[in-house]
Amino acid sequence: MTHPTIVTLTGTGVPHPCPGRAGAGTLVRYGDIALQFDAGRGTVIRLAEAGVEPCALTALLITHVHSDHLVDLADVAMTRWIQKTLHPAAGPLTIVTPEGTAADFARHMFDNFVDDIETRLAVLHDEPEIDLRTFAATPTATTVWRSDDGEVAVEAIAVHHEPVTDAVAYRITTPTGVVVISGDTVVCDEVESFSVGCDLLVHEACRATAMRPLVAGTDLERIFSYHADSATLGGLAERAQVPHIMLTHLIPPPMDEAGEAAFVDDLRGGGYSGRITVGRDLTTVLIDRTAADVNAPFDPRAHLETKLDPARLTHLGIWRDEADEISDRFFQWEVPALPSECINAIAAGVRTDIVGLDLSNITDLLSPGYLPLETGIALTPNGELSVATLTQWPDTTPEMIDWWFGWHIARTERYKLWHPQAHYFTQPRYDLSDVPGLTDRERYVGNTSWVDEYLGPIPSRLAITFHDPSEIGLDEAALTEAGYGTVVCAVATDSDYGHELSRLIHAVRHTADGCEMRSRFILPAGTPEFIAAPLLDHCWTEMTHLASFLPDLYMYATGAGSR
Ligand SMILES: [Zn+2]
Ligand SMILES: [Zn+2]
Repeated sequence: MTHPTIVTLTGTGVPHPCPGRAGAGTLVRYGDIALQFDAGRGTVIRLAEAGVEPCALTALLITHVHSDHLVDLADVAMTRWIQKTLHPAAGPLTIVTPEGTAADFARHMFDNFVDDIETRLAVLHDEPEIDLRTFAATPTATTVWRSDDGEVAVEAIAVHHEPVTDAVAYRITTPTGVVVISGDTVVCDEVESFSVGCDLLVHEACRATAMRPLVAGTDLERIFSYHADSATLGGLAERAQVPHIMLTHLIPPPMDEAGEAAFVDDLRGGGYSGRITVGRDLTTVLIDRTAADVNAPFDPRAHLETKLDPARLTHLGIWRDEADEISDRFFQWEVPALPSECINAIAAGVRTDIVGLDLSNITDLLSPGYLPLETGIALTPNGELSVATLTQWPDTTPEMIDWWFGWHIARTERYKLWHPQAHYFTQPRYDLSDVPGLTDRERYVGNTSWVDEYLGPIPSRLAITFHDPSEIGLDEAALTEAGYGTVVCAVATDSDYGHELSRLIHAVRHTADGCEMRSRFILPAGTPEFIAAPLLDHCWTEMTHLASFLPDLYMYATGAGSR
């Protein structure tokens, strides 16, 4: 079994501090192996944010001696040592470094902590130790580290960062990818030859050409002369046929998207045609050249994918930790009473005198008017169980309903507004809530909403994956023609066991005073019939309850009313 190779920038900054940018560092993970390259300012915090604590590092590799790459080396090593109180198995930190100044730095890094170490030895019984492995920086590639199973190897090659000597670039090879990390260097042949055949080149970048008039005659001119000019770097990446370059150690640090775009323009001007990522702290790239479709478009959501905790703690109602202005205003425990048409439909049980909708006759929804079964339970032509509800949404637009689905899935406290007596947890598979520029439908179609809710008395843990209605034969033009503003389609599975529980369709049609929602749940043949009544009750209640405040909520949360 292979794993993706995961590359995370733990710091994209330089010696001059910049908000949001820690000092130089790149984390490369493959399965349990975690290799950290350099340890600039804030490395331990960024590692923790990336989910890797110092005690979990397999090795730390140093590119060269400059404080912005090393200032937190002792922090990583000391923290790992202190973590032995909780993680006794964490042995000495393996540090891999060119022989010379960097190795000397590592040998002496505990010197200033002798008194602190003495004090801590009362609790921690062994002195902090490192496992120092040095190598000679040479102009040809040398293997400097290999995992015990031989699957992951790191090579080094000398680069040009004079006056600093013994500066190296690294190349990491795993079963699923090859990553090159330049360290600090001018654009050089060594990195170019190293990069041929790689999947990702992580390279430092300095806008030296663009800034030349600004820095002429200053100390910065000298400093720029031993960093990688972003214009020339484009040529290197193109000649080496690098498919993807990620820029870090950014000079000047971009303060906005225009600042990032300037780096892209420099590389394009230098002739580069591949993919460019201007790094931010914690920018993460997944590489898997063994994946079935290696040419598949990059999934920009990969780093936003979340994990569902099977031991999650949940509760009904809004507790102090979840309360916000929106819940204060819109969370209402009382829900509308079930109307007689629903009570009667439940009392009627599974109807056999009329046919329910399943995927074989779903396009009946496109006919004008109503079907015989709009509120109730019936068997379908495929022998499935179809549960129908019809709800009224005065003053609501279909856009508001799309907004609701894109918005609520991000937070449990939002999901709880919908059915306060039954909803107690939600988490999106992809947390897109902070991704700018998406439409409301893009926030939920293709995403999975994990929800925990009561269906009647039954606690249910569901995975609701939203699909485009065209996948079940409801194409957009026909829906528009039939008066629909939006259709929410999904497949619900059991989030613990994965089996399919239901397909669901909420078809939202314009009416004179707003819209109406025609909901259908199609339950596979064999589903126990007793689930249908609580489902009908639940759906009518949550939809009618939401309809009572959605227009106000929409105005309040989006500010649409003030525009
Ligand atoms: Zn540097
Ligand atoms: Zn440097």
